[in-house]
Amino acid sequence: MIPELLAPAGTMEKLKIALQYGADAVYLGGDQFGLRAMAGNFTNAELPAALALCHANKVRAYLTVNSYPSDRQLDGLEQYLRQMARLPFDAYIVADPGVLRMVRRISPEREIHLSTQANTINHETALFWQEQGVGRINLAREMTLEDIRTTVTAVTIPCEVFVHGALCIAYSGRCLLSSALTGRSANQGACTQPCRWRYALQEESRPGVDLPIEEHEQGTFIFNSKDLCLLEQLPELISAGVTALKIEGRMKGVHYLACVLRVYRAALDAYASDPAGYRTDPRWLEELTTVSNRGYTTGFLYGDPHDVGQSYHAGYQRSHHLVGVVESVHPHNGTGTLTVRNRFALGDCLELIGPRMKRLDCPATEIMVVGPDNGYTSASVVHPNQRIVMRLPAAAAPGDLLRLPQADRPATGSTTSRR
Ligand code: SF4
Repeated sequence: MIPELLAPAGTMEKLKIALQYGADAVYLGGDQFGLRAMAGNFTNAELPAALALCHANKVRAYLTVNSYPSDRQLDGLEQYLRQMARLPFDAYIVADPGVLRMVRRISPEREIHLSTQANTINHETALFWQEQGVGRINLAREMTLEDIRTTVTAVTIPCEVFVHGALCIAYSGRCLLSSALTGRSANQGACTQPCRWRYALQEESRPGVDLPIEEHEQGTFIFNSKDLCLLEQLPELISAGVTALKIEGRMKGVHYLACVLRVYRAALDAYASDPAGYRTDPRWLEELTTVSNRGYTTGFLYGDPHDVGQSYHAGYQRSHHLVGVVESVHPHNGTGTLTVRNRFALGDCLELIGPRMKRLDCPATEIMVVGPDNGYTSASVVHPNQRIVMRLPAAAAPGDLLRLPQADRPATGSTTSRR
């Protein structure tokens, strides 16, 4: 069976990208009680339209309710769950047993998926959650392939794994660094990612004297985990019986979401059409280096990654950045209308990308800025939020993205490491 491809959809724009670029299911948050409090969640008023769009596209939608609420938050949570009960979510994603209990009381018919924040790390734990009526478990990122296989075999409910995205330096969601340093709790969805900050050392008897910790001129990355990428391991995960493959990144932008999704979609489609002849296409791996990443690792899939799972050399890297989103195309004159996301200039050698690995050269030969009166002015440089008209390749379509290769492209290549 080909696993479900499950993508983040933090906003209506990202939801449309997820639908267009190949998601089978999406997870999204309301404006309360979902992790990723800063991810631009949906308001309650927006959720009905978002769900209608998903279901019109035969895509399942899961509501994230996976924070760990305190007693003081329980009344608000109950109210929130009663509002959500009216909406046709296909499942809720929960982590806290108390939240699970509440959901079962308020919406007994609702399918419940257990979040990775519940840290299901062995098959006995999975069996426990199955006995509690959980309908699907997102297994902990810290499990090996063998652990995954054992657990999938032990339970009768579906199991899901993360295949791509950021890794915590701690057990997922069990980190107090952000809480301690900024008052924003990772377990409340508000992590400020201090594991990526620079740190100094203090000797006990010399308070206030920072002793710098320096690895090299690019910085110091003592807590800097590489990002997870299991693209090359899809056949192993499929043969282990995993039901769903999840992409992390509700905080990431549309370029990241589109690129990662279209790569995993292409890989799953290729596997479905010819499992025996399946090979990882090097272009897929190359595409994953176009988006923000900290180098890729297979995480714990083959055991403890030790230092191979950590990047000591750099922060985020990417080979391209988004400069525009195609709103509409005008086939009669070969142009399209776009919203500019980042500055670019006449003469830049842009790329147009779209679903199904569409990737076309798109030089910026003539740019017209659309004015408030819908008049056009020729421009040599354009800036974020401007609407422009420019020449596009014949295969361009609404929802395609325009991106600019970085001049100082880092040598990322396929950086997936195994151990
Ligand atoms: S600070 Fe880093 S390790 Fe801790 S929860 Fe946030 S992202 Fe994860």
